[in-house]
Amino acid sequence: MTEHYKYLLSEDEMPKTWYNIAPDLPVPLPPVLHPVTRQPVTPDDLAPLFPMALIEQEVSLERYIEIPKPVLDVYRQWRPTPLFRARRLEKALDTPARIYYKYEGVSPVGSHKPNTAVAQAFYNKQEGVRKLTTETGAGQWGSALSMACAFFGLECQVFMVKISYQQKPYRRSVMQIFGAEVIPSPSDRTEAGRKVLADDPDSPGSLGIAISEAVEMAVSDPSVKYSLGSVLNHVLTHQTIIGEEALLQFQKADDYPDVVIGCVGGGSNYAGLAFPFIRERLAGRHETRFIAVEPTACPTLTKGLYAYDFGDTVGMTPLIKMHTLGHNFVPPGIHAGGLRYHGMAPLICVLYEAGYIEARAYPQNPVFKAAVEFARAEGIIPAPESAHAVKAAIDEAIAAREEGRPRAILFNLSGHGFLDLAAYDSYLAGRLEDYEYPAEAVQEALKSLPTV
Ligand SMILES: *Cc1c(COP(=O)(O)O)cnc(C)c1O
Repeated sequence: MTEHYKYLLSEDEMPKTWYNIAPDLPVPLPPVLHPVTRQPVTPDDLAPLFPMALIEQEVSLERYIEIPKPVLDVYRQWRPTPLFRARRLEKALDTPARIYYKYEGVSPVGSHKPNTAVAQAFYNKQEGVRKLTTETGAGQWGSALSMACAFFGLECQVFMVKISYQQKPYRRSVMQIFGAEVIPSPSDRTEAGRKVLADDPDSPGSLGIAISEAVEMAVSDPSVKYSLGSVLNHVLTHQTIIGEEALLQFQKADDYPDVVIGCVGGGSNYAGLAFPFIRERLAGRHETRFIAVEPTACPTLTKGLYAYDFGDTVGMTPLIKMHTLGHNFVPPGIHAGGLRYHGMAPLICVLYEAGYIEARAYPQNPVFKAAVEFARAEGIIPAPESAHAVKAAIDEAIAAREEGRPRAILFNLSGHGFLDLAAYDSYLAGRLEDYEYPAEAVQEALKSLPTV
């Protein structure tokens, strides 16, 4: 029998619907609250921020949502993405486990993020929006949205966390190549930015501050809307194309995962892979385990509170019930920039609270060690974010060997690390610091949780 290394789908086999997990949840989602009245938000409250089609998806109880043809046509450029069997890694680890990874790094910008960026740009264009604003940390989301806006003829304005703007010029170049305007945040363009600069002219910025600026820009002009790259229900739904493809690919492999692993920043790449498999478990067809992986420097699920909090720093966004480290929390400057958000997708939180998803946290040195081990066996250099999933998959494979219990492990390789080589340099030179749970900083930030 042939030993397969990859499982591919043809363009025709690509799923034509996204999976919305909301109607299948074991417990319903708590309502999102208005930041001022603290009452459940209405679609009208959200209309200055998002197009109606996305607001409808945000609250939808339809299990399957048809992917519009223009979105499918863009997806076809790099989708379906490959599912790899990591045979050389299995050999290197001397494990009886079967390790599979779904590789989202084949998209033009090198991560899963275009799966939702393309959809969001499409719906905004359809409703006559002229320009999208957004925030970006390390630049992955900004690159994805800039590309999507270029495809659909929208202007794009990106508030990029100032420290990343200075330290990570290449992603800024990517966004500018796609025609976006990139502004270091905090900036003097907005009330929110000016307020932060008045208190601290040298502020390095944070994702929470950049969100405040992007939201303010959107609400002050009716032809402009705001776009978010993770956390929200509609974003997670768009990402489920990943898991729907993986399910079909496992049929071709004549196998099924016992464990499904992914890194979590806001939760979208992990939800995208895991939710279709969680649907199978909720329906009683499989006993799969689910593991979400985060950095010890920003341990939102493992150490955060499950409470209502703002999505941004200034307090302009609606209140969301989620695991949070506090909207004022500024995590240490780890290299996995995409995992430094203070909150977590409410859909992931509900499933975590109900016991369907486990979580674990790792410091960055063991994460980079696992990434290098993976690269030497498989040839792909993982993004530092994705490397958290690699580490957990390797630990599972070692456990399989030590316990003498084979198992099939699936993880999401959410992106490649070709624009993160400076981080690898630091690791290889022994210059990476491990940050443990910053308990005091979190305690301080949690004091400012809004009361509801
Ligand atoms: C942004 C990013 C993440 C984290 O975001 P999620 O919404 O949790 O998926 C993970 N991996 C890569 C490669 C990213 O760019």
